[in-house]
Amino acid sequence: MSATVFFAPMRSQMKRSMVTRTGSLLGRAGLAGAVAENDLVAVKLHFGETGNTGFVHPIYIREIVKRIRAANGKPFLTDANTLYRGERANAVDHLACAIHNGFSYATVEAPLVIADGLDGRDAVEVPVGGRHFQSVRIGAAAVHADAMVVVTHVKGHEAAGFGGALKNVGMGLGCRSAKQRMHADFRPEVTAETCTACGRCVKWCPVSAISIGPDRVAEVDYAICYGCGECVAACPYGAIATQWKTDANALQEKIVEHAAGVLTGKEGKVVYLSFVTAVSPDCDCWSFSDAPIVPDIGVLASTDIVAIEQAAYDLVVQAVGLPGSLGEGMGAGSDKFSAITGVDGTRAIAYAEEMGLGTRTYELVTVD
Ligand code: SF4
Ligand code: SF4
Repeated sequence: MSATVFFAPMRSQMKRSMVTRTGSLLGRAGLAGAVAENDLVAVKLHFGETGNTGFVHPIYIREIVKRIRAANGKPFLTDANTLYRGERANAVDHLACAIHNGFSYATVEAPLVIADGLDGRDAVEVPVGGRHFQSVRIGAAAVHADAMVVVTHVKGHEAAGFGGALKNVGMGLGCRSAKQRMHADFRPEVTAETCTACGRCVKWCPVSAISIGPDRVAEVDYAICYGCGECVAACPYGAIATQWKTDANALQEKIVEHAAGVLTGKEGKVVYLSFVTAVSPDCDCWSFSDAPIVPDIGVLASTDIVAIEQAAYDLVVQAVGLPGSLGEGMGAGSDKFSAITGVDGTRAIAYAEEMGLGTRTYELVTVD
């Protein structure tokens, strides 16, 4: 059985605003059926780090909020705190960062709630019976919400290979200790011949696990490193490689098990929107956004997280890589995320299907 994924390409034959079309997509995907009167509706998004420009702009979020209210729901914007050092590691900094990036009641007309509370400890244990975890810890506000609209900016990811809806939900809404458990299989390794001892990774590492050794090469203290993967993307010379204590699929499977925890009890209550625009090679957790690897493609909507994830991945594969970006020279049909990150990010999609979260078989319905 296939799922329907609605697709609004960037090109509008009818010359309609993409903001309005995004709202229409929500309707086509079934928002009215997902939201009952007075439902508390979590709008899961990424508020972006300061300096990052890849996250979905507040003008879209305001439209989404408007549509949820029209369906008689009570929307609030949410995300959980990060594990790494940055501007979203606790609720106070997180909210300040969100407001700096343009997300406030005045702009989006909905309150902001950090899902796992002030310091990341406001979480609920949800049974999932997965390969890695019997239960997962999810930000309480996400668990207690009646319905959810998941707004995803599609991009690459240095450790997971691909950053789509599954990662947005699973990694995004896991509480801080859950994020630690998801990352535990990752091990960075420095190539001595390539390292210039510039020190960027030393400054970036959230737990000060890296130092410059006496031979002028970065050294990782594995007793301290918790495997966040940030140093791999931090190194401007590609001197830190991804190694896995088990295999490269473990992180993706763990993310999916957390996504399953978020979605437990919300059957028929979640609508997904994925923006295949400004498709950067790296996560939006960075304080910059690298050049998009493909042209802006459009926005997808579905009630099936697996189908929308597969469709987003396929659309980027089918696009031609942009000159001047890390996608340069990659033609239609090449798997750009795998080539750029060195990680095959499709394991998450397959495992999500295995866990019964949806289907990889989809019908793409183009709408204007
Ligand atoms: S993966 Fe890299 S940045 Fe993350 S904790 Fe380990 S050494 Fe530090
Ligand atoms: S960022 Fe890269 S080149 Fe610079 S010290 Fe770290 S590993 Fe070496």
